[in-house]
Amino acid sequence: MSKKDYYDVLGVSKGATADELKKAYRKLARQYHPDVNKDNEEAADKFKECSEAYEVLSDEQKRAQYDQFGHAAFENGGAGGYGQGGFGGGFGGGGMEDIFDMFFGGQGGRRGGRPNNGPQRGADLRFDLDITFEEAAFGVEKEISLYREETCGHCKGEGAEPGSKVETCSECHGSGYVNFVQNTMFGQVQSSKPCPKCGGQGKIISEPCKECRGKGTVKKNKQIKVKIPAGVDDGSRLRVASEGEAGAKGGPHGDLYVYLYVKPHKFFEREGTTIYCEVPINIVQATLGAEIKVPTLEGQVVMKIPEGTQPGKVMRLKGKGVPSLRGGTRGDQLVRIKVVVPTKLSEKQKTALQEFADISKDNINPEEKGFLDKIKGLFK
Ligand SMILES: [Zn+2]
Ligand SMILES: [Zn+2]
Repeated sequence: MSKKDYYDVLGVSKGATADELKKAYRKLARQYHPDVNKDNEEAADKFKECSEAYEVLSDEQKRAQYDQFGHAAFENGGAGGYGQGGFGGGFGGGGMEDIFDMFFGGQGGRRGGRPNNGPQRGADLRFDLDITFEEAAFGVEKEISLYREETCGHCKGEGAEPGSKVETCSECHGSGYVNFVQNTMFGQVQSSKPCPKCGGQGKIISEPCKECRGKGTVKKNKQIKVKIPAGVDDGSRLRVASEGEAGAKGGPHGDLYVYLYVKPHKFFEREGTTIYCEVPINIVQATLGAEIKVPTLEGQVVMKIPEGTQPGKVMRLKGKGVPSLRGGTRGDQLVRIKVVVPTKLSEKQKTALQEFADISKDNINPEEKGFLDKIKGLFK
């Protein structure tokens, strides 16, 4: 069972930057997302494959491990179980202890990378979820649909057709391992390897389960309710315990990781718990002051514009931002005032403005005098 190279899966070169990886992954993830490929197992597999590749390559440390040791760096966790087993397997990261074990101990590196005939924890799953700006701010419960391995109900995960004969392997007597003698530069050493007769299972199943073909698990579509807390942000990751794939031989489920993507809002922007927006007012409102209506995440509020408000002034609506994910106080909404100068005035309006200018003399622009003083003598 050979796994595809992670770089090939994403269709990028070995030297791809973090940005290129992200772009490639997002494109594939959208193409194969279970939401748009209902009841399509192949797409589900593709989605899992590219998610797994991205999970590893987007993590600097895991990527370095993968570049050096390939899939062997993560093989303990089983398919999709990236990161679980980490570095148990093989020579690579096992450290000196494993090398000593291999040469001098009888265990022969049994702890790493070998098939195990007991129950195994299922693989972790990743699900990418788009949510709205408001849902991120206030939290939401979502039902997501995904394909995952479930314990086979027909054989209860055993892999054998109910009622059929299951024999203990005569080669390894049920242990799943056989010892052999290896010639090394230190002389002959005894080592062990997975039993070739039973493939490390320790038993011989005469009639594999008809439902799961002996695997012990079957892929099923599953609806899962996910509670998204208030205050999450674009790129937040939620861990839903035990909603990953079922483990082999009745082992526990892995975890489900939900990655959140927050859709941009057409009016608001957000940074942390602060919400930003811009509101236009006219020159009369800016000059005389006014009460205007400002949208917030929970409807409109009335905001007082003081007399003589300058363009670009930022006003604060306390507590109208996003709740903090870690509890504590809620953020504020910052409103930037945009003063819009009228462009199409009637003759009557122009006359009125001219009259206003005439009676104002030089106090229409309170900064004019200071400005003139500043530039005095510049052009002599
Ligand atoms: Zn079965
Ligand atoms: Zn055997």
